[in-house]
Amino acid sequence: MSTTAPVFDVTAVRGDFPILSQTVHGSPLVYLDSGATSQKPTSVLDAEIDFLTRANSAVHRGAHTLAGEATELFEDARATVSRFVGAQPEEFVWTSGATAALNLVAYAIGNATAGRGAPSSARFALAPGDELVVTESEHHANLIPWQELAARTGAVLKHIPVRDDGTLDLEAAVSVITGRTRVVAFSHVSNVLGIVNPVSELVALAREVGALTVLDACQSVPHLPFDFAALGVDLAAFSGHKMLGPYGVGALVGRSDVLDALPPFLTGGSMVTTVTLDEAGFLPAPQKFEAGTQPVSQAIGLAAAARYLDALGMAGVHEHERRLGVRMMEGLRRIDGVRLLGDADAERIGIASFDVDGVHAHDVGQFLDDRGVAVRVGHHCAKPLHARFGLTASVRASTSVFTTDDEVDVFLDAVEGVRPFFGVGATGGRS
Ligand code: PMP
Repeated sequence: MSTTAPVFDVTAVRGDFPILSQTVHGSPLVYLDSGATSQKPTSVLDAEIDFLTRANSAVHRGAHTLAGEATELFEDARATVSRFVGAQPEEFVWTSGATAALNLVAYAIGNATAGRGAPSSARFALAPGDELVVTESEHHANLIPWQELAARTGAVLKHIPVRDDGTLDLEAAVSVITGRTRVVAFSHVSNVLGIVNPVSELVALAREVGALTVLDACQSVPHLPFDFAALGVDLAAFSGHKMLGPYGVGALVGRSDVLDALPPFLTGGSMVTTVTLDEAGFLPAPQKFEAGTQPVSQAIGLAAAARYLDALGMAGVHEHERRLGVRMMEGLRRIDGVRLLGDADAERIGIASFDVDGVHAHDVGQFLDDRGVAVRVGHHCAKPLHARFGLTASVRASTSVFTTDDEVDVFLDAVEGVRPFFGVGATGGRS
């Protein structure tokens, strides 16, 4: 008898996700699209329903009992989710997701450049010729806001290239990041490659030149132990719906000195001290960045997701998904005519993107769906990275806590059948 307990009880986990028990086109659903959005356990759905049926009310205003309860639950959710990512509650700003959080930062820097904000905001002001640095593998959400900021301010947008094996070219980064670099924005984990980027090296390079670091943590917070304080970045963004939580909620996490000095982006109700017809004063962070009605029930649902992941243990979650990622990679490498994007034996999560020679990604996706396997096809909002690999589209399989080895094998068997089904020969030509 084995004395080693299973690291991770995926069968028990699956019981918490009723959506997984359905069939698609007569086959059991194999959901390998958690990189786009994860499924949600019943505890998350229940938390939202419970709040809406028991305590729903506007937060931070109103003197009635329900308003007080709702405010307490909302702030408890901030405490829970900020703890989950290794940050303090005052370092945690609710947003509608990662896209909103990254735009918040870019627009706030633009406002500082326009002379808005407290005197301390001047440290973020950009001058023409200042440099913003991203990587070639960014999701459009961590690319286009910086393009727009550069266009508005005269700053120059530069990028750290990706090597053929999918890793970042750190030697090139040393010369891309210069004394004029003001922001270095990069993903913790690429949503296409699944490779974990070298955060500490990039933070060190940015710090040397006094640049602000902005981490897109969309694909790391759901999949590995995430400690904002230990990572040493200035700001980080993530989305709830990819980490077993609800849609329409996410966060910007930022070091207090940075959030205190940044001017607000959205302005309006709930973020002010005094207001006259001519001007307004702003509350301290995080409220300064939370104008308007917040996604309250979603925030409470996200806290339930954080508790769920915490109970599983993020080290176990990471190991489970890393192993599945390796299983997918090794399986795909063995299939004729399949090219894996980012083939490096690097630290990774359970994401594998690939091209099938001679068959369009959309046809592959359709073929897999006919067998119950749900994957993402297209450019995954990372067009420059696809261009780097000479592609316009790829197929992406991505795992979550509920993914099993058997599901990966069903997926691999199905991929093996793609080229024979489409009559594509060894050279990529249709026979
Ligand atoms: N960054 C990365 C790495 C992502 O994977 C995504 C979602 N695909 C985003 C940013 C944007 O997240 P959202 O659409 O939830 O704002």
